Amino acid sequence: MCLFCKIVAGEIPSNKVYEDDKILAFRDIAPQAPSHILVIPKTHIPSLDGVNEENVEIVAHIFKMIPKIAAEEGLTNGYRLVSNCGPDACQTVPHLHFHILGGAKLAGEMA
Ligand code: AMP
Repeated sequence: MCLFCKIVAGEIPSNKVYEDDKILAFRDIAPQAPSHILVIPKTHIPSLDGVNEENVEIVAHIFKMIPKIAAEEGLTNGYRLVSNCGPDACQTVPHLHFHILGGAKLAGEMA
């Protein structure tokens, strides 16, 4: 079971900010901004490359919920959404996740 599947299963604790039957959002353990939240599907999808006809609905649901999670977090002045996919993007956890970064003016360069 991957790290984030273990978090979904409750085998590893997390600081949850939102949960429903399909997705979980929790605080990143090593925040790179004042607010750094990870949003994941509860089902295991390895990365964006694993999105397909069968599971794309859960990604749509994640995108529907991200603005609500950001609003609840108080990110009224904007935020950045990042999903690292594969080795060149330095993806370290092989379970699809979206980083919500905000709470301060972020760096203009993204890479
Ligand atoms: P990525 O490098 O895009 O794969 O992002 C993985 C993220 O997961 C990193 O920002 C890590 O800090 C974060 N992370 C790793 N382990 C945990 C954990 N147990 N709880 C919360 N966040 C974690």
